[in-house]
Amino acid sequence: MNPADLGVVQAYLKDLRLPAIARMLPDTLRDAEQHGRSPLDVLRVLLEAELEQRQKNQSQRRIQAAKFPYAKGLETFDFTANPDLKKSQIFTLAQGDYIRQRRSVIFLGNSGRGKTHLAIALGREACYRGFKVRFYTAAGLVNELVTAQNDQQLMKFETRWLKWDLVIIDELGYIPLRKLEAELLFQFFSLRYERGSFIVTTNLNFDRWSDVFGDAQLTAALLDRLTHKAVIITTNGESYRFRESMKAQTTD
Ligand code: ADP
Ligand code: MG
Repeated sequence: MNPADLGVVQAYLKDLRLPAIARMLPDTLRDAEQHGRSPLDVLRVLLEAELEQRQKNQSQRRIQAAKFPYAKGLETFDFTANPDLKKSQIFTLAQGDYIRQRRSVIFLGNSGRGKTHLAIALGREACYRGFKVRFYTAAGLVNELVTAQNDQQLMKFETRWLKWDLVIIDELGYIPLRKLEAELLFQFFSLRYERGSFIVTTNLNFDRWSDVFGDAQLTAALLDRLTHKAVIITTNGESYRFRESMKAQTTD
């Protein structure tokens, strides 16, 4: 292996934006010489490395674009702590068929039951599988909607909202909405209805949603759209935070 030739090839590879191949080339060529691997085999190994790197970078970019508030994964979720949840159901959801079918998932349960954790974890799984994901808190989304409306930018935003395969709305129902806010949120759900998926987390049973949305008719229409073909997962059981703090106290 002539170092000058190697340098030239590596420079070409960088120009062609094949950095993983450039990086792996010396070791792969040395290894091929030692073990008598065919040129075709060398090429396959290098191309696979480049493809793998590209997929990782794309997943990372999708995770950045999703704006998750923090990183949570399925691997750190303790299913034994929450007997209400079926591990197999969550892992099936992680495969993303519900997104392909434009169905939604609703996590319903009291505080500290892992709703946000699971929503983020499923969102990340979706990013790994090539879906475009956006995480919002309900309050954050409402702010964005109101700002867009004030700036007469709703139309422009609508195209943007349709490009996400999955929109996560965390903590719907924690704060009551003003009339305009409820209407804009309803419009948002209607726009994406059957065109994209949602994951919604909420602490409110459906019969209490009109308290938040203010208008019984609007709430009924919204629930109709949101729950149509949705997977509804109740996460009750005891609070994980509470359980962990009790454990800490008893082991002190
Ligand atoms: P919720 O959104 O239902 O209020 P969170 O998802 O915010 O609850 O959970 C509160 C904290 O407890 C988070 O740090 C979360 O990671 C953790 N947690 C909750 N349930 C579990 C669980 N079953 N396994 C591991 N961590 C959990
Ligand atoms: Mg939460």
